[in-house]
Amino acid sequence: MVNSILGRLHGVKQTAPNKWLAKCPAHPDRSPSLAIRLADDRILIHCFAGCSVDAVLSAIGLDMADLFPDRVAAPGSPKPKVPRFSAYELFPLLIQEALILALAFDAVVSGDVLADTDKQRAEQAFNAVLRLNNEVAK
Ligand SMILES: [Zn+2]
Repeated sequence: MVNSILGRLHGVKQTAPNKWLAKCPAHPDRSPSLAIRLADDRILIHCFAGCSVDAVLSAIGLDMADLFPDRVAAPGSPKPKVPRFSAYELFPLLIQEALILALAFDAVVSGDVLADTDKQRAEQAFNAVLRLNNEVAK
């Protein structure tokens, strides 16, 4: 089941048993910011840049029901609530985003001019860190 999702993603890298990182299909992703995890009968997806699970799935032609293969959603029923990733699981991604911010900061402090793509990536990292802070604060 998870393979049908992984097969549609690029840059897939297994980080642990039942855990993967991949490039997010829903935004221009230069480094993998999509975390995929297989937990029991569910597949958890988290884009660290802030794409919604719906956006990620529709970008690869799937929908929420594909994450919950054993549950057939009745029309009008509420969407299944996707469990959150734990802080521990997000840590490798946080480090990656923090590193991008640190490099951008270092370049600015050194008087280097950031390329537009680097600026965009740093901004993405900035938003990702803020977003994670909001998630942890809840
Ligand atoms: Zn994304």
